[in-house]
Amino acid sequence: MLMRSAWQLPFSIISLHNTVSRDIDMGQPDQPTSEVTTPGWLSNQVERGLHASWAVGRLLDHAVGLGASDLFVSAQEERWVVTVRHLGLIRPVCDLTPPVGLHCAAHLRAEAALDIAEHRKPQDGRWVHRTPAGKILDLRVSALPTLHGEDVSVRLLDRETSLLRLDQVGLLPTDLQRLRKLLENPGGLILMTGPIGAGKSTTLYACLQYLNDGTRRIHTLEDPIEYAIDNLHQSQVNPKHGVHFPDLLRCIIRQGPDVIMIGEIRDSETARTAVSAANSGHLVLATLHAPRAAGSVASMLAFGVEPHFLATSMIGAVSQRLVRTFCPKCRFPLGGVNSPGDPPTSTQTAALGCPACHYTGFGRQTALFEVMEMTPALRELVRNRETTQAIEAQAHREGMTGFRHAAEALVARGLTEMGEIERRIPRDCLQAGH
Ligand SMILES: [Zn+2]
Repeated sequence: MLMRSAWQLPFSIISLHNTVSRDIDMGQPDQPTSEVTTPGWLSNQVERGLHASWAVGRLLDHAVGLGASDLFVSAQEERWVVTVRHLGLIRPVCDLTPPVGLHCAAHLRAEAALDIAEHRKPQDGRWVHRTPAGKILDLRVSALPTLHGEDVSVRLLDRETSLLRLDQVGLLPTDLQRLRKLLENPGGLILMTGPIGAGKSTTLYACLQYLNDGTRRIHTLEDPIEYAIDNLHQSQVNPKHGVHFPDLLRCIIRQGPDVIMIGEIRDSETARTAVSAANSGHLVLATLHAPRAAGSVASMLAFGVEPHFLATSMIGAVSQRLVRTFCPKCRFPLGGVNSPGDPPTSTQTAALGCPACHYTGFGRQTALFEVMEMTPALRELVRNRETTQAIEAQAHREGMTGFRHAAEALVARGLTEMGEIERRIPRDCLQAGH
């Protein structure tokens, strides 16, 4: 249960909160939630004659109002379940009766131009939705056959708020400086790693925005294109029509680009072409699945890239994880427990939850980073196929700050708590480095 309400907390904390932040409007903890979350409400409205498109609109507006990143409509044995992903965690929205769930799923499929008659194969498509407030959202819809019917997931991409500048993504000042220095290289390969949903695309777009000053020809190769950006030459792979990553990449190289962004390296040929493009003087930015920055080397070698070519082309790797930060409306200092030099603790700041954060105590997410800059010693380790541990240890010796350092800095600034860090970042990532 994510809801935190005042009466679930010890009296002492409530009193302390009242003394330190009387000016904060806490609202009413039992304030009614949106009608969409009222059990049976949405199904009743549709069964009384309102169209499924209306119900889908309400669900999307609810998800946007929460600031959710995804909306899920999933068939279960006797009902359909609607959930959202909000600040990285799943939250329930409502249940739908099977006929209403089916109609809503069919409407989502139709709007995203999926084949309505095809229920046995996974499908994906896109759709643009305008909210009542005029906000435009790019929706990526994916339908997956499941045991009881299907799961429809909708990724919500807000054109206005999702593009961040490099200094807004959460980099520590030293890492920001390090990443800018990497981007200012005329050529070389920079790898962005981390699990799905860690915000890699946001950082990648922020890097492109930084480079997009009119002096460089920037090509992107995406699947799918997430945001349209002025002055960029963006291309999308289209496997249905035989346009795959390696073909598109080879064609882009012939276009004379300065910078190439590869949405994701997911096959040997793309990995090798990316390395050769970087070696021939292009700046190549690419995302890659690897748990940490140093692990990107092993992932590239697993794609069959020659260690020598990787060592000469790679200039850096960035890894990231997202954590939630306290809601600025209800965050308050617990005060006085730490003296300078003490290790930061979770007792410095807390948040009780308020209407603005839907009583979760958390307002948004920020990223924690590792930025590894290649050095002669690191290149030598790559050339010799050394282990990820050896590469990581050397990177730390040469000044790379680890996730633990970034996490402690965030807690020390009172922006989140260690509990949240430990929930979201694997233990081994936090143990590594300093
Ligand atoms: Zn709040």
